[in-house]
Order: sequence, then C-alpha cells, then structure tokens
Amino acid sequence: MKVRAIYPGSFDPITNGHIYIAERAAAIFDEVIVSVLVNERKSAAFTVKERCEMARDSLKHVANIKVDSFNGLLVDYVKQKEAAVIIRGLRAMSDFEYEFQMALMNRQLAPEIETFFIVTDPKYSYVSSSSVREIFHFGGTVKDVVPRVVFEKLKTLHKGK
Ligand code: ADP
Repeated sequence: MKVRAIYPGSFDPITNGHIYIAERAAAIFDEVIVSVLVNERKSAAFTVKERCEMARDSLKHVANIKVDSFNGLLVDYVKQKEAAVIIRGLRAMSDFEYEFQMALMNRQLAPEIETFFIVTDPKYSYVSSSSVREIFHFGGTVKDVVPRVVFEKLKTLHKGK
C-alpha cells in the first residue's frame, strides 16, 4: 500500500527549512503533498498562487512531491486526498507546544491520521517565513535560507504595495 503524506503550512514564502522537511518526508513516504493553506483570517504577503508557484519551482527536483492548496479543516482535506499522515517540522522547543496541541486536536477529529514530526537541520532552526520577509525588507541577506525563486520574488514584494 502506498502511503501519502500531507505537509501543510502557510509557506509565505517557502524557505530552505521547509524544503529540508519536505525532502526528508519524501525519502520516507511514497508521496508528499506540500499543501498551501488558504487562510482568509491571516493576511498573507504572497497570494496562494504565488506561494504554490514558488513551492513547485523549488521542489521540482523531487519526483514524489506535489504542491497543492486547501482551505477548511486540515483533517477533511487529508481524508479527501486519501492520505494517512500529516507532516510538521520542529525547529525548537517553542514550536512543540503549539504543534503538540494541534496534533492532539487533529487526533481527536480523525484518530486514523498520524502526525509525523521531522526535526530541522540546526542551520535552519532560526528560519521562519516571517523573519525572512522582515530581514529582506530591512535590507538583510536571506540568500542562504531561501531558494533562488523566492529570493527573486521577494524583490517584487514591496514594489507598488
Ligand atoms: P504554519 O502557519 O502552518 O505554521 P509555516 O509555513 O510557518 O505554516 O510552517 C509549516 C510547517 O513547517 C510547520 O510545522 C513549521 O513548524 C515548519 N517549519 C517552518 N520553518 C521551518 C524550518 N526552518 N525548519 C523546519 N521546519 C520548519
């Protein structure tokens, strides 16, 4: 039986930390779907389309990774995709409490779905989408922590906005 895993997130934008997690998940599971959350309540820097394009471009080297978007309840989406696993990345203890609560909540909603945590590479432990946007905005260098396509796209972010 093929095991499909969903790696959900805002990916606003995707960083090398996310890519590291997606690659490691793809080495374990038959198929990984990186799924961009359409969150109407949280204002995003990039559109869902842009976030998907950046993710697709920076993960095209991995054959068993697909990129998709979703809204609504994560567990409903996971079931709809006939996936068995939710992937989440852990950077530090500070991620744990939130992630643990969410995993328990999702288990309550759908006991058959497993949340699978992958620990980041220490070199990405301080990397988040929001810090990337902020550092870039203030002229700092983010080249080492985002894929090339994201670096180029960041340059367009504050133009005309
Ligand atoms: P969300 O809004 O759902 O937290 P994010 O795009 O910020 O979406 O993160 C998606 C997932 O990737 C989360 O599990 C988060 O902990 C993980 N993640 C984010 N940045 C990194 C990183 N640098 N290394 C490893 N995992 C990360």
